[in-house]
Amino acid sequence: MNTQVLTEQEEYLYRIRHSTAHIMAYAVQQLFDDGEKAVRLAIGPPIDNEFYYDMEVPRPITPDDFPEIEKHMKALIKTNEPFIQEDWAFDQAREWFGERDQKFKLELIDGLSNQDTDSAGEGISDDGVSVYHSGNFTDLCKGPHVEKTRECRHFRLLRVSGAYWRADQNREQLQRIYGTAWSTKDELRNYLRMLEEAEKRDHRRLGKQLDLFQTHPESAGAIFWLPKGTIIYNKLAEKARKLYQNEGYHEVRTPLIYDKSLWETSGHWEHFRDDMFTFPNEVGDPSSGLKPMNCPAHMLIFKSKRHSYRDLPYRLYDQGVLHRNEVTGALSGLTRVRQFCQDDAHNFVMSQQIEEEHNRIIGLIRRIYKTFDLPFRSVLSTRNPDHFIGDTAVWTEAESALENVLKNNDLDFEINPADAAFYGPKLDFYVKDSLNREFQCATVQLDFQLPERFDLTYASASGNMERPVVIHRALYGSFERFIGIIIEHYAGAFPTWLAPVQCVIMTISERFVAYAEEVHNLLKSQQIRVELDNRDDKIGAKIRDARLQQVPYMFIIGEREVENRTVSVRVREEGDIGAMDLNVAVERVCAEADVDF
Ligand SMILES: [Zn+2]
Ligand SMILES: [Zn+2]
Repeated sequence: MNTQVLTEQEEYLYRIRHSTAHIMAYAVQQLFDDGEKAVRLAIGPPIDNEFYYDMEVPRPITPDDFPEIEKHMKALIKTNEPFIQEDWAFDQAREWFGERDQKFKLELIDGLSNQDTDSAGEGISDDGVSVYHSGNFTDLCKGPHVEKTRECRHFRLLRVSGAYWRADQNREQLQRIYGTAWSTKDELRNYLRMLEEAEKRDHRRLGKQLDLFQTHPESAGAIFWLPKGTIIYNKLAEKARKLYQNEGYHEVRTPLIYDKSLWETSGHWEHFRDDMFTFPNEVGDPSSGLKPMNCPAHMLIFKSKRHSYRDLPYRLYDQGVLHRNEVTGALSGLTRVRQFCQDDAHNFVMSQQIEEEHNRIIGLIRRIYKTFDLPFRSVLSTRNPDHFIGDTAVWTEAESALENVLKNNDLDFEINPADAAFYGPKLDFYVKDSLNREFQCATVQLDFQLPERFDLTYASASGNMERPVVIHRALYGSFERFIGIIIEHYAGAFPTWLAPVQCVIMTISERFVAYAEEVHNLLKSQQIRVELDNRDDKIGAKIRDARLQQVPYMFIIGEREVENRTVSVRVREEGDIGAMDLNVAVERVCAEADVDF
């Protein structure tokens, strides 16, 4: 089991990044303070692999300014000034930051003097604030920092974006400059290389290049799946369906629009309405809404029939279309969308079945992620003692059941204490892609609340009516997001079973079309997704096009191939592997054409 404590190296990198943020802020102040208007600093925390600083600058900063800022930072780093901590009384801090027109810092100081807990990483001491100096730069800060500025020499500025002060759209708009910093030159170089690779693999870019999907402003946040992307989508759906069917899930299809009375029963109207698309009645009041989740529909189905303990676990699977009203600014590619589908199921179980049911679900997660070569870890969120419904004993039992499952399955996991939603503990699963980046995919959420709200019951062995527990579970998560992740994970080179086109047949000249058509038909009869490229074009151009499309197999046909009833085979990963007997070549493609999860 992992703990949440940082390793020594992670802790050191944290200090390096935090310290580099100070140095960057100082450089920007020196360069952009135009004498009339100050550069006003907000907050500058380290984040995963990187750091940023939010500031109000007299003129917009662009990446064109980075070389100059970096040059200035390097000069400051070279002086090798120490980072020195001091405690200041509130009045002293107010005076110092006030004289320098640092209104955001003044606001932070006021917050600290009112004992606000501040997540920004800025400091408080017993009866005042903590500040750090490095050279002539002083920042409100609780640290920790490196000892001297030279430890920050392996850094790079990365990008700049907008941010609101206090993340509040009604407050000042600031500029957020991002950078990265490491303890060695090699680490920095590796990280920059990874970023470059990630940009090449960006699913928005590859989605276009490989003709997988589009977006249009006419339907912001909703994806137009093109023929090739639809093949991938359907493949994932087909695999999930089959897997779940074998595990005793029943697939259902449920409506998109529901009367608000249902959302009131489920609690969405109270807690989730701002994220829903709603429709007005005759007098203009919202009276129905598009579903953001499938759960309430499944509760209705469960409730419509009398259930006995023998029916449980009862599992409903739904690939229904979901809508959530994300703000336009947050929308991005396949990762932040307004319309999506999940491999979503709700499993109705008796409380004594919680452990076994989770065991089965984890078995499914294993099989799915293994197929994609995605290692994963899990995070268990447990009861928040200040915010939960239900019986403490039931929670404790469920939590230890989940912990047992994780241990018995030998999974890498962490516990996030007190982080569960008020209605039940949950497991989140994070996959690690081929660039070692982590993404959250599956969630398995226990729910003690919905069965109450919908008054769900089953007849126990002794004939009493008991409450079931609901498990919400989606293992890909959303299809959209999962496809985004695997596009980048594979850099568009999908394994044969998933590739939209599995084989391209290409002719060296028009004279060989008859045989090429025969090969084409043979592959088609084996359900291979195959294309015939008999354009009157150079073979080199045809190969280049198929390579750009990341097609796993190319069969090239010329005179010799026709004579010998062979094909010349090019494999995406191996290149040209020479002529092969036609049937042997077809068999090779067929062997990779499908997988079972
Ligand atoms: Zn600081
Ligand atoms: Zn649900």
